[in-house]
Order: sequence, then C-alpha cells, then structure tokens
Amino acid sequence: MKLHSPICDLPGLSPSNYKMLERLGLTTVRDLLLYFPRDYIKYRRVKIYQLKVGDSVTVVGKIQHQEVFSPPKNSRLTIQTIIVKDKTGKIACKRFFNHPYYQSKKWRNEQAATYVAGGIVAISGIVKADRYCGMTLTSPEIRLIGLDEAKDTKNSITPIYPLTKGVSNEIVQDAVTSALESAKLLNDSLPQDLRRKCGLMDLQEAIANIHQPPDETQLEAARRRLVFDEFFYLQLSFIIVRRHRLLARSALTKITPAGPLIQQFYSQLPFSLTSAQRRVINDIVNDMTSKTPMNRLVQGDVGSGKTVVAVVAILAAIQSGYQAALMAPTEVLAQQHHRKIATWFERLGVSVQLLTGSTKTAKRREIHAQLETGELSLLVGTHALLQEKVNFNKLGLVVIDEQHRFGVQQRQDLLNKGNRPHVLTMTATPIPRTLALTLHGDLDVSQIDELPPGRQKIHTKVLNKSASAYDLIRLEVLRGRQAYIILPLVEESEKLDLRAAVAEYDRLSTEIFPEFSVGLLHGRMTSAEKDEALNSFRDNKTQILVSTTVVEVGVDVPNATVILIDHADRFGLAQLHQLRGRVGRGSHRSYCLLLNTSKATEAKARLEVLEKSSNGFFISEMDLRLRGPGVVLGYRQSGISEFALANILDDEGLLNLAREMAVAIVKSNPNLEGHPLMVAELKRRGLTSWDCTLN
Ligand code: ADP
Ligand code: MG
Repeated sequence: MKLHSPICDLPGLSPSNYKMLERLGLTTVRDLLLYFPRDYIKYRRVKIYQLKVGDSVTVVGKIQHQEVFSPPKNSRLTIQTIIVKDKTGKIACKRFFNHPYYQSKKWRNEQAATYVAGGIVAISGIVKADRYCGMTLTSPEIRLIGLDEAKDTKNSITPIYPLTKGVSNEIVQDAVTSALESAKLLNDSLPQDLRRKCGLMDLQEAIANIHQPPDETQLEAARRRLVFDEFFYLQLSFIIVRRHRLLARSALTKITPAGPLIQQFYSQLPFSLTSAQRRVINDIVNDMTSKTPMNRLVQGDVGSGKTVVAVVAILAAIQSGYQAALMAPTEVLAQQHHRKIATWFERLGVSVQLLTGSTKTAKRREIHAQLETGELSLLVGTHALLQEKVNFNKLGLVVIDEQHRFGVQQRQDLLNKGNRPHVLTMTATPIPRTLALTLHGDLDVSQIDELPPGRQKIHTKVLNKSASAYDLIRLEVLRGRQAYIILPLVEESEKLDLRAAVAEYDRLSTEIFPEFSVGLLHGRMTSAEKDEALNSFRDNKTQILVSTTVVEVGVDVPNATVILIDHADRFGLAQLHQLRGRVGRGSHRSYCLLLNTSKATEAKARLEVLEKSSNGFFISEMDLRLRGPGVVLGYRQSGISEFALANILDDEGLLNLAREMAVAIVKSNPNLEGHPLMVAELKRRGLTSWDCTLN
C-alpha cells in the first residue's frame, strides 16, 4: 500500500463503501489519513448503578440475554435488545435496523451466535430514557472483549467525522482504521530539532492519535501538533510572500507629509484628534515615507473616526503631487464620504469627484479626462472605480473602506491602476490582533481603540414584541428626534424579501405611524431615489426611515436617536453593532431596540451580548466565537479556507509559536533551501502562490 494508492485497494472495503467515501472527497490512502475528526465522544467507564440519563459512558458486563424482533406495525424495522449486567445492576441496549436484510434467518443466527449469554462486552453510548424499559443505551458501540480487557477498559474516545447524507461514521472509521497501517509511510516535514524545541509529537504518532486517541492527553498532544502545522505553513507562506514584496519593490511614491495642506485641514476641524487617531496617523505617515509601499489595515470601532485618519493620508499623498482613490462597498457610503470630504476639500482648494454605477455618462467622461490629466486629486466611489476606463495620471494612495466586503482580486485591480501605490484599508469589524495577522499575514495592523470624547452609551434592549418599541419611537419623534426601522433583508437581491419589506413599509406608514412622515430606503432603488430618501431624512422632512441594511455602514444623521431592528436574530452581532452605530451620533440620549423573533434561547442570549457591551472589539470576538470566522468575515479577503482543526481564538499561543518558528526558518533559509519536505508540504496545502503577492 502506498500513500497515493486508491482507497479501493484497502483491505475490507466494499465497493459501495468506497463510493460513499468518494462522496466525501476521499480517494487516496493519504486523503483518509488526513481526514480529521470534527469532534469526539468521550465515554467514561462507569458501573451500571451510576448511570444517569444523558451521560456518555462505557459499561463493561456480561450478556444476560439477546433477542431480535420486528414490531407488527412496522415490519421493515428490526429491533435488537441486549441485556447486560455487572455486579451493580443491569441495562438494556437497543439497536435499530431498517432493511429487509436484517429480517433474514442468516443474520439473526449470526447475532445469536455473537452475543451469547455469558459473553463479556464493552458497550459505549449515551444513556437515554426509554419508555418501555427505563434507562437504555440506544444504538451504542458494542465490542466483545476478554476478561483481561474487561479489567483494562477505562474511558474511551470515539472520533466523529465530518459526514454527508448517507455516509455513516462507522464507514469512515473502518476505512481510516485500515488506512492507519500506512501512517508509517508519512514523512514528517518538521525537522526533529524544531519538534523538540516546541514540544511537538511526531507526525505519524499524531495522525494515529488524532484518529484513535488512547486517552485525552494523547489526543491533546496530537491535536497540538496538527494545529501547529496548520498555523506554521500558513505563516510560512505569508512570511515568504512578504519577503518577496519587500525585496522586489521599493516605493516609487515619495511622500512628504510636511506641508500646509494637513495643517490647514487640522485647523478647520471643529474638534481635536483623539490620541488613538494621532497614533494611527503616525503609523501611516511612517509607512508612507518609508522605502516600501504601505500595506496597512486600520481597525476601529463604529464612530471611532476612521474617516479623518484616511483623509490625512489622502492629503499627504496629494500634497506630494499624487492622486488618491477611496473605494467604499455601497453607493450610500460612497456618497456620504464624498459629501463630507467635498466640504472639507472645498476650503482647502483640493479637487474631489464621486464615481458610482449611476454616475451619468457625461459626468463620467469628465471624470475620466480629469483623472488622466491629473487635474483631479481624489476620486471617491464604489466598485465603479475598477472599470477599465478609469485611468489615473499618478495614483499614489488607495484607501479601501470596509475592506472585508471586497475580494482579493478587486483590491488588486484597484492597485494595478497605479505604480506600487500605498494602500490603506479600514474596517469596523475589528478582530483580535493575532487573528488579523493570521488572516491578513501580509498587512500591518493599527487600531483606533478609543472613541472621541462625549460619546454616550446607546441604551440597548432586546424585545419580543414591537408595541413598546413603537411607543418609544412615537415619543422620540414628538420630541423632535428621528428613528430608523431596519428590516431583515439579508439578501438585497431576493425579490420576495423585497416585496415583504415594501409591504411592511406600507403597514408602518399607514397603520402604525400615519401621523408622521415615513421614508423608505433599500438597495434596489435607483441612486437618485436613494439620495432623495436619505436627504429628506437628513433634513428631517421624514421622521422615520424604514430601511434595509444599506444604512449599515457610515450613514450619519445626528438627530436620529432610535433604531429598531426587526428580526434582529437573523443578523450577526458585528452587523447589529454597526447598525446600532447609526444612533448616538448627536448629544441626545439614544436607543437601540432589538426585536427578537426566534424562540431559541441561544438567539436571545446572543442578542443580550449587545445589551451588555458596546465595545466593538469584544462584540466581534463574541461573534467570531459564536458563528465562526468563515461566516463573520466571509474569508473572501484572505483566500484561506477554514482550518481543519485550529481554532484561531483559542489556539492563540500556538499561533504565536508557529509564527515565531516560521520567521526563524525564513531568516536562516530565505528560500527554504534545505527544507524540501516543507516546500512539498506548502505545495500540498496550496500555499505556494508566492509571486501573486497581494500588493
Ligand atoms: P467611523 O470610524 O465609524 O468611520 P467616522 O469617521 O464616520 O467614524 O466618524 C464618526 C463621527 O465622529 C464623525 O461625525 C466625525 O466627524 C466625528 N469625529 C471623528 N474624530 C473625532 C474626534 N477626534 N472628536 C470628535 N469627533 C470626531
Ligand atoms: Mg466609516
């Protein structure tokens, strides 16, 4: 047997079984060895008198009786009952079979011969309460054992594999068992001294123990080794990518931050910068004046003032004779950035234009021309910036707001419009720093971890009825304030959802709030309609804005003091926190009401995180824990698939260790000379696209 042998060569595997394994994407012996369990059931060895419903246990005892019968009402079904006793009591084990084969005399005789009275068995399962015979072990694993083994049987651990419909855990377990013979053929790609230094189990042992752990200590050691590998190879590829970037490129964009523009900008701001903003601006200026292009991510909670920071970077580029681009994920946000920046820039005498999908042809032509001559200094917009006709004269800085909404390719397309421009990305879904390094290994990370002074707490409440929420909205509007009502349109493209949203708007405007003027905003409206809806809300011509999540990012109306989020249980915490950030922007006391329509207790508990915390860093971490990084961050930006074993939040220490080791290896072996096994392992993991660097 070789590692690349097809699994159909494995002994004891029937054709129908390997067809099933193929459906899990498993075709070779190696595939099976590297197909890790997603979980384990840990069975505790107990005496029968200790059994409690719900426990996962292993019971060792003698068979007293075995019988098989089919209930008359369901003759396809076969139920096997085995009564087992130890010195302290007895228990029934039940197994269910649903195929005519199990009705045959042959099968029944086999069973009778296997489970003879007096035979010793170890039975592992979960204790259930059965309405006919009290406590039972239902569909347990049953092993016939000898007397010696009966003494030695302690706690046991059964692997649970990721499965698809129609493929049972036993099939995978059996196939893995016969593949494990070949684990000795695996080459360990980590050198022994590295393993020793980090206290890591060798690969063959780790593979054996991850599938069939003899005990929890061995399982933990195996897991630790394999998680290390997952981190190590990812970090190794990041470090090599980064090194190539630094070697191959030096900044062509020469920035001189000293100059009048930035000072003038500061002096026209009605506030002074927070120290966190100043620190991050300092990071950025250092990057922009250094020898390699900046590639920095700024993380900051909603309302922490990221825009001002980005504008300083933009002015530094413009002052040095370059153009800048600012790309945002939605038209609403792009418009808002443009409006704000245009008022600042007018006084500074700096040109800025807005380009979105709905910019009229004539205007678009004008923008294209101004960009090419260099007359236009800053272009703000959406994905429209990526269009082929958009050509800059001298693009020196690219700013991407809410960067996790864009894919790697889109980002790259924008960068390609300049010659090694500096890149600044921003996000309001902050993630723990080490996680940021894992997911965006090629980025430097800064955090604005402080809100401007005077921000007030937003009073947040989870509700299960809307009546009191409507009362509060009414009260606030009568006081001259305004309110958002957010509808759960998760996919803007779904027509059905859209119709439901419009119907709800009709109900709210005619039945609930007929005395007020109610506006509607959703992603499917034309740009002019969106503009009008937002403008009349901004001007307080409409007091209540019924909206989808298009207002999630950036919309800034300080007079709005209530946000009611319908079906809040359908949104992620990070997204709800963003939505909540639409209120509390002025000096008035503000409220966020989360309407929970789910009966599940977890849903309520999850939403209550928002009642207790207003810290975006904490909230995103909770969201990551509860829903996983794949869902929260979409993984689009990183091009990384989920880890098989690693949990980025809990394995932080191991991540740091792996990173340290990877740095050391590259330092002494810049191209991994002398580590052919590591190179092979990087390839196997699909991590060798070194020349398609991000920047
Ligand atoms: P975000 O980080 O969510 O993008 P913004 O940049 O939109 O936040 O800033 C939110 C609001 O706070 C804006 O109205 C902005 O003008 C204001 N702001 C930014 N920095 C400060 C500061 N240092 N002091 C007071 N207000 C500030
Ligand atoms: Mg912002």
